[in-house]
Order: sequence, then structure tokens, then C-alpha cells
Amino acid sequence: MSLKLATNALHAGHDVKKTQGTRAVPIYQSTSYVFDDSEQAANLFALTEAGYIYTRLNNPTNDVLEQRLAALEGGVAAVATASGTAAIATTLMTLLKSGDHIVASNSLYGGTYNMLSNTLPRFGITTTFVDPDEVNNFAKAVQPNTRAFFAESLGNPKLDVIDLKGISDNAKTAKVPFIVDNTIATPALLNPIKYGANIVIHSLTKYITGNGTTLGGIIIDAGTFDYSNGNYPEFTEPSPSYHGLKYHDALGPIAFIARVRVEGLRDLGSAPSPLNSFQVIQGLETLEVRMQKHSQNALELANWLVSREEVSWVNYPGLNSSKYNELANKYLPNGKSGIVTFGLKKGFEAAKKVAESTKIFALLANIGDTKSLIIHPSSTTHSQLNEEEQSSTGVSSDLVRISVGIENIDDLKEDLDQALKAV
Ligand SMILES: *Cc1c(COP(=O)(O)O)cnc(C)c1O
Repeated sequence: MSLKLATNALHAGHDVKKTQGTRAVPIYQSTSYVFDDSEQAANLFALTEAGYIYTRLNNPTNDVLEQRLAALEGGVAAVATASGTAAIATTLMTLLKSGDHIVASNSLYGGTYNMLSNTLPRFGITTTFVDPDEVNNFAKAVQPNTRAFFAESLGNPKLDVIDLKGISDNAKTAKVPFIVDNTIATPALLNPIKYGANIVIHSLTKYITGNGTTLGGIIIDAGTFDYSNGNYPEFTEPSPSYHGLKYHDALGPIAFIARVRVEGLRDLGSAPSPLNSFQVIQGLETLEVRMQKHSQNALELANWLVSREEVSWVNYPGLNSSKYNELANKYLPNGKSGIVTFGLKKGFEAAKKVAESTKIFALLANIGDTKSLIIHPSSTTHSQLNEEEQSSTGVSSDLVRISVGIENIDDLKEDLDQALKAV
């Protein structure tokens, strides 16, 4: 039976018969698992038998979360990590090696932008950033050593909707996997795999958990990329890192995600705590209804902001005035998520003032909470970037970002009204 998203968000990956009939997914707070005998232990390490070894590699609570998100995104398998950043780092460090090159959208989460532009180059992995509005910019930036494309389906905080299909066509021609960070859209609003993404990443910290309690990340493999195309010898040659295993031959469509688990998690240690996975699962259960409400509130507030004289511009992909409205209607027909940005006519100081004057909207560096949040990125989340980098990631000094929660919309308007008047 092929189940729909709301049902999978509540049930996928949990076989109650295997958990003493518990209706809730239990927290398996154990670092390790007792083997039947030496032979079974050897089989588990040889990957000839499925089972649990050590919680850095796998865990029954994490396992439910992984299967559930793979089902929600239409992937073949997934690996959970301690944060969204860990998911991105583990993906790239498993897939790539020194000398390899990435083509990435220039509209990225600040932390990801830093990882690609400063940290990975120290290990010989370089990135060319391109404007994703023109999909062929990806093809134009390809070098002989390009081994991955990377983009956010709905960029944070530029709120650009990328043409996933166009970029994935470019990736197919370049014979590289297309990695998509789908954090802001969530699988409730968009499934990048449907449009050709090969690997989907989420920060579970945001909408998926949804209540601001827990850090988490996930790597979901579509199982669609051909690692035997000649450019990925780590998948076709015997791996010295895993007793000569040839991932592509042995594991076919799960070659990448299996390597993420047995080499990536083993060597980088990015596994989540089972307690955190449990918390993520609680939040995930209500993802669909929350995303509908976030999207509805955000659209109404965006329209209201447009009518305010203190505000010079409003950016929300659901507004007709948005340059991304057409792409948003194509890729996000059921809602455009809950992030809105707007500019203050009076600039930098006014934007800072609004961000500190709200009473319901909390001034903090996060998004995707059920509770409304506000920040002035130019002086905070994006302050490590220079002015040029800030503007390429869509941040201007007058910009205020709000993450619209699921409170009563009239209360949210009243709160922003008094904050705008405080300027
Ligand atoms: C927050 C965020 C990340 C990083 O996730 P953490 O869980 O904070 O490590 C990555 N991508 C996007 C789009 C994000 O919003």
C-alpha cells in the first residue's frame, strides 16, 4: 500500500511488533548491542547480515527516523545525523576527496556557505558559487574535477525558489549527483527527488522537529545516481577502508548511503543521540498540518507588510510580486513555507530596532519553530560574510527576517504593528 505523507509522518518505519507493541517509538538509549555469538558478530561487521552493532553506526530509534524520512522524501534509505550541518559535512566528506570540485548555488544558509568557501578548501575541496536563477550557470561552471552540484530548494534567507528540474538536467549532463538541501520547504511542501535530486538533506532542527527543542540532520539517498560512470572510483574499486568492499557492485542503489553509514558515521562520528531522534519523531508527526498553518500565516502577514508605510519591500515566494512566484506555484503548490523577509525604509538601524521591539516574535538565530521568530541577519547570522558575500546570499543591511509561527494571525499583526511604530 502506498501511503500519503500525513500517514507516513505518523507510521513509516515503526513496526510495533518489534517494539513490544509500544504505540510510541521507544528510545533505545544503548550504545551497543549483545551479539548472539561470534559468527553473528562477524556477519554484522561483514554486512552479510542486518543488525545493530554500535550506536555511532546504527540504533533502532534512529532507524525509525531514517526510514520515516526516506518514505516522506521518496528515497531508498537515509542516515540521521546530529545536526543539519553534520549531514552536509558527512555527505560531502563521504562523496568527495582532495582535488574535487563542487558547483553550488550562491544562495545558501550562512553556515553552509562558510563550510564550502572556507573549511572544505583547507582539505582540497573547492566550490564555484553560481547564481541559480540561470540554471545553465551550473553547466558553465563545471570543471573536469567537478563531482557534485549543491543547492537549497528554497534558499535561506533569499527565499529564491530554484528550478530543480533545470538544474538536475544540468547535473545529469555533467554526470554528477545533485544534492538538495530541502530544509525550508520540507517534504510536506516539496519532494526534490521527483524533480531529479539524487541526495536530499535536511536540518531536522527547523520545521521537521518544529518546536525548537532539538538539533538533528538527515541524508536521504534517492538511489538514482550511477556511481559506476568512471568518476567515482571509491564506489567501484575495492575499498581499503572497508575490507575491499566494492560499494557499487555489492549494494547497487544504496551504495552511497551505505558508505555514508559504514565509513562516514564511523570516521566522522556525526551520529545523533537516540533521545534526540525520539524528539524529532514527536515533532515530525504533525509536519503536514504545521506546514499548512505556517504557510497560511506567512502569506497573510506578507500581504499585510506590503501595506505598511514603514516597509520598503517584502519578499515571500507566495506574493504575486515575488520574482519567484511562478516557480513557487510550480514547485510548492500547497504552501510556500513560513519565512518572510522585508526591508525597512529607514535602513540598518531601523531594521535592528524592529527586531528587538517585538514581544511575541522572539529575537533569535533559528527558523522553523511553531513560535514566531525574528532576526536582523546583517548584524548577526551573516555578519561573518563581507558585504559582497552578504548580498550574493540575499542579505541587505535593511533586511529583517521573520519565521512566522502558528500563533493567532491577529496577535502576530498587532505585535509587528507596535514594533514598526517603535522605529
Ligand atoms: C539551519 C540550516 C542548516 C544547518 O542545520 P543545523 O541543524 O543548524 O546544523 C542547513 N541548511 C539550512 C537551509 C538551514 O536552515
